Amino acid sequence: MKHHRNKLMIPGPVEFSPAVLNAMAQPTESHVGANFVNTFKKALEQLKTVFCANSYQGFILAGSGTFAMDVAASNVLEQNDQVLIIDTGYFSQRMVQLIKHYGLNPDVLTAKLGTVPSLDLIKETLAKKDYKAVFLTHVDTSTGVLFDLKLIAQQLQGKDTLLIVDGVAAAAAAECKTEEWGIDIYFSASQKACGTPPGLALLMVSPRALALAEQRKKPLPNYYASWQNWLPVMKAYAQGDPAYFGTPPVNLIYALVESFTEIIAEGMEIRIKRHLKQAFAFRQGLKALGLQTIPQTDSVAAPTLSAIYYPSGIGSELIKSLAENGVVAAGGILPKFQDQYFRLGHMGCCNYLDLIAVLAALEQALYSLDYCCFDLGSAVAAFQNAYIKKNFLE
Ligand SMILES: *Cc1c(COP(=O)(O)O)cnc(C)c1O
Repeated sequence: MKHHRNKLMIPGPVEFSPAVLNAMAQPTESHVGANFVNTFKKALEQLKTVFCANSYQGFILAGSGTFAMDVAASNVLEQNDQVLIIDTGYFSQRMVQLIKHYGLNPDVLTAKLGTVPSLDLIKETLAKKDYKAVFLTHVDTSTGVLFDLKLIAQQLQGKDTLLIVDGVAAAAAAECKTEEWGIDIYFSASQKACGTPPGLALLMVSPRALALAEQRKKPLPNYYASWQNWLPVMKAYAQGDPAYFGTPPVNLIYALVESFTEIIAEGMEIRIKRHLKQAFAFRQGLKALGLQTIPQTDSVAAPTLSAIYYPSGIGSELIKSLAENGVVAAGGILPKFQDQYFRLGHMGCCNYLDLIAVLAALEQALYSLDYCCFDLGSAVAAFQNAYIKKNFLE
């Protein structure tokens, strides 16, 4: 029998803090009782802080990240809208499928693996049509590629085009000044860097996106996802009044408030820097082992996870070996490439000590597969060297 619990290091769900798990385990209360109403109200207020969107409308809904994608798309689009999707991997492609499912025919600008499209190419594409909306993924979880949101937001400044961002693997860890940068919808889910078990879809929506949604002549057919159903509920709870459309996941919302409280106590700026620093140091550890990541440069490498090519001659047995050494890793999910790489998450409450342990486990796992072209401890040393550099990002 193993005497320890493996560390869950996949890119979501992640490890959750003891206080968050404890909040989940309290007796369930009435969803219209004063205690819960105040908790929901607090969650909506905290969402504004964590997603940097003070005057936006928040939605906290029972559902996974995919539901948040559905809510974002189906509430603002209508038939024959021109839509652009900037495709950096698996979840951008899911958005393509989702929008096609509603009968629209989106344009797709696909990036080369491990990169984002150049600014020139984006400008050229945007100039071609009057797009109703541009969709993109802040951190693509299949490739570990980070998108520079500020840059694209600048391109859309002053235009009517809505900017809709999938922040499922980025929110609460990667910088996004949602309101300041003019992002119209930023959405996420509970189980990644937001630090709460799976089950909540989280969205922040700009006033103009809400207004556009209402002005549609032929709204897409939706029901559980419809803002018409949820808006009165969110508005009521925000004022401290109960309301009902579908029963909210009471325990999860208590857990979310606990996690947001931890996140806000850490401070968003510090937290964002911590993720950048941990991820950078982690990549130095990988390099010391001769391993390569999918993102081709540091500037497009996600702060929240790493997608790592298997060394030659090794495949998914590495994931098995990692599990034997105490770490749960994820395989590849990008079609065509999925057998060539694996993924490790480094977001949420995981800290530098966790990552040192993960790198040590990775060294041991590689040794046990006879990949021994490095000295044991070299990834750990490379991580520590990078991590203790005082001038990091300063
Ligand atoms: C995880 C993820 C999703 C899907 O979320 P689910 O909770 O699995 O439905 C969507 N987009 C991105 C970027 C993700 O990382």
